[in-house]
Amino acid sequence: MGARRAALTVAALLGAALALVIALRTPWQPLPVPPGGRTPLDPGAVLSPDRLATAEAFAAALRPASLAGLLLGLAVAGILGLTSLGGRIVRAVARPLGGGWVWQVLLGVLALSVIGRLVTLPLAAYGEVVRHRYGLSTRSWPLWARDVAVSTAIDAGLTAMALLGLVWLIRRAPRTWWAWAALAAAALVVAGSFLWPVVIEPAFNRFESLPAGQLRTELLQLADENGTPVQDVLVSDASRRTTALNAYVSGFGATRRIVLYDTALQELPDDELESIVAHELGHVAADDVLTGTLVGALGSAAAVALLGWLLSWTPLLRRAGVDSPGDPRVVPLVLFLAAVGTVASTPVQNLVSRQIETRADVHALDLTHDPEAFAAMQRRLADINLNDPTPPAAWQWWFGSHPTAPQRVALAEDWARLADAR
Ligand SMILES: [Zn+2]
Repeated sequence: MGARRAALTVAALLGAALALVIALRTPWQPLPVPPGGRTPLDPGAVLSPDRLATAEAFAAALRPASLAGLLLGLAVAGILGLTSLGGRIVRAVARPLGGGWVWQVLLGVLALSVIGRLVTLPLAAYGEVVRHRYGLSTRSWPLWARDVAVSTAIDAGLTAMALLGLVWLIRRAPRTWWAWAALAAAALVVAGSFLWPVVIEPAFNRFESLPAGQLRTELLQLADENGTPVQDVLVSDASRRTTALNAYVSGFGATRRIVLYDTALQELPDDELESIVAHELGHVAADDVLTGTLVGALGSAAAVALLGWLLSWTPLLRRAGVDSPGDPRVVPLVLFLAAVGTVASTPVQNLVSRQIETRADVHALDLTHDPEAFAAMQRRLADINLNDPTPPAAWQWWFGSHPTAPQRVALAEDWARLADAR
């Protein structure tokens, strides 16, 4: 079998394995239908008429900018990746340093990342203006600029490392590189999901232990009841950036901890905070990070095998002005294909995510037995975070990682009706 056929076959097999894992591990019906059917959705039960109008206006102001930013990013990546322009930039930026392939890859990724960032910067700034106008962002402009610079640098740095490894492999093993790269990509996803809480989180926030007291005791107890004890309850200084309320559980085994946004600690009554934490503990109990890691590992391995197939397609290389897959000028093409793959896989990821989030909601209700606090928390979050309670169906399908607030409030109602019927 030729290397080209082999790459396509492996991509198809990994894709089938991925589909199987998704089909089997996704909770397609986290809560049975209560007698009398599901509670109808009612945005009016979530937000006051005033806030509903504000939330819809906010979404209407932000949505076109988000979409335009996404499309513009793709278009620029396409222009750089599907013409010889990107390759010429890669050559040019490395020339002062001798023009070796390593410098071409490293500086090329850096230059392309900066270009991509600058092109979409006005739209990102506009988005920040809108968030400021609606009182959702508390970031000063210098802090915003620093966040953009830091996240672009981290992004570009990681991408440069990945592409350096990729091009090195292609040059080392011109026929089988995609198989090694697929293995490496899967391993990186696994390592990344362990390293994220240790490396990335601290780059953006500072954490302090929640002092001893009733809330701390109750949260630790909730974690114990869940069968997933935590080492500590931390408070992050999220208020430096945002008014959004959140909490999450990160780490594994002995390093597992609950993290509360300081905003949530300030704004939420204890029972609602417990509902949020119980939801997060639901993710832990169902091993959602593990499922996510497995899906991510299979998905990226499949994507790399597919890349192996695409980069052996001469017309595509010629279009990008590239001599062979090991030519460092392949970088813009790879970045474009990665961007397309990311956008195309978003609806599948979000479909699975919404189901998993619903299961964590059901878990929170099972753990706290407090649908009132859960619904009150959802109303408050919708009110403060201004989440659009009525997004267009296509938007929610593509970009919605969580059920909408009316869906979550109706879920609590369903849960209570099922509990009554029991
Ligand atoms: Zn969640």
